[in-house]
Amino acid sequence: MKIQGYGGNGWFITKMEQLINWGRSRSPWPLPYGTACCGIELMATMASGYDIARFGAERPSFSPRQADVLLEAGTITKKMTPVLKRIYDQMAEPKWVIAMGACACTGGVFRTYSTHQGIDSIIPVDIYIPGCPPRPEALLDGLVKLIHKIEKEHPLRKQAQALLQES
Ligand code: SF4
Repeated sequence: MKIQGYGGNGWFITKMEQLINWGRSRSPWPLPYGTACCGIELMATMASGYDIARFGAERPSFSPRQADVLLEAGTITKKMTPVLKRIYDQMAEPKWVIAMGACACTGGVFRTYSTHQGIDSIIPVDIYIPGCPPRPEALLDGLVKLIHKIEKEHPLRKQAQALLQES
């Protein structure tokens, strides 16, 4: 975020939307939704060695209502469709989704009738992270990309879209 300086008085000016986006992008609280082996790499990323707190995402939320980012790591079978959809619907706007790993992005090696060939057929996805499984560094890279995306968004765009869909 660029802040315009105003001399040495300790004052600065910025746009309200930049300030909101700055706050949102620095605290993307994740809802970890590990359904298969990618979940192990997700757990490793959340451990101390990778220090995900650098990006404000160290506070996992297992309640959808207190989460900002649905972090889906693993295979989603057709039977799990209503569960994933319901979790997403219970999250408050603004919300974002990261698809972690080949299975979440495209179905991966599971080219079967029972498996979704990518979770974007159920819910909108903001960031795709390839790999089988992706390493923690790849997940952190995806998180940084999401942070940059949030910084550039209009703060009310997602709420407006959600309202339009409801009407
Ligand atoms: S992408 Fe690979 S590691 Fe991740 S859930 Fe699928 S099979 Fe497992």
